[in-house]
Amino acid sequence: MIIEVAPGIKFIRAQNAGFPYCHCLLIDSDIRAVIDTGAGERAFAPIEPTRIDIVINTHYHRDHTNGNHLFPQARVLVHPLEYPPLVDEEARRYYAGISRLDKTREGEKEYLAKARKSRSIPPRKFKVDGFLKDGEVIDFGHTRATVLHTPGHTPGHLAFYFEREGIVFGSDIDLIPFGPWYGDHLSNLEDFEASIRRIIDLKPRIYCCSHRKPIRENIEEKLLSYLDKIAEAEERIKKHLKEPVTLDDLVGRNIFYKNYDYVYNGFWERNMIEKHLERLVRKECVVIVDEERYMLRS
Ligand SMILES: [Zn+2]
Repeated sequence: MIIEVAPGIKFIRAQNAGFPYCHCLLIDSDIRAVIDTGAGERAFAPIEPTRIDIVINTHYHRDHTNGNHLFPQARVLVHPLEYPPLVDEEARRYYAGISRLDKTREGEKEYLAKARKSRSIPPRKFKVDGFLKDGEVIDFGHTRATVLHTPGHTPGHLAFYFEREGIVFGSDIDLIPFGPWYGDHLSNLEDFEASIRRIIDLKPRIYCCSHRKPIRENIEEKLLSYLDKIAEAEERIKKHLKEPVTLDDLVGRNIFYKNYDYVYNGFWERNMIEKHLERLVRKECVVIVDEERYMLRS
């Protein structure tokens, strides 16, 4: 389903709102562009592929890129920091943290084999034709968008601000009930917080993102409670640090995930907890004992 949120700015509702799909944006102007391509082939069916001039990927994650091949003639634009994981499988494994997994978990081979088997999208190399930088204004003809570099979820994550229409497309600053997702090795808590604040400051009239329908009401309040979820997670983690525990001890205690049915949930949870532990140590709220155990400073 395609929803016109403003003249020339259309929200492409994904076949399914969750992974490996994402809602996308179609800019239907003199220059026609698609922002992210993970809506699914059925969702893109009404769009003539040869009439798309530009594909923009907000970041390298598969649910945002898996339909790039539907638009073979389009120029593909990304932030420079998303280029390595799009074109190089080793870089992708490094960004996601998969390359560190071998060193950090017991029974690794079995775990990885299971994870690979469960992966719905095989590794793929993407073509990239150019880069977008923060503050750059893209002139599509009848509409213009300012590029916002909004790191945190990934290092080169992009959002777009349509100033005249008061619309922000925030991609995976996605306001889902889970809260901000920073399960990649290269996700960054402070950057994520700053990026959410940056969007709040723009006071969008309509907020579009990748895993929810367009939001028109109480946007600031919703973004603030989404931001708060990072601090809430930190408080949950602190409750487990009254006794010394290792990072691995903390995985599986439902700090982020309600269950671990999906093979990657424990892995992502570990990455997210690790970022909080590092920050708590930096803030001197937590000390490391016996080299690998974390404990609240008394
Ligand atoms: Zn993502």
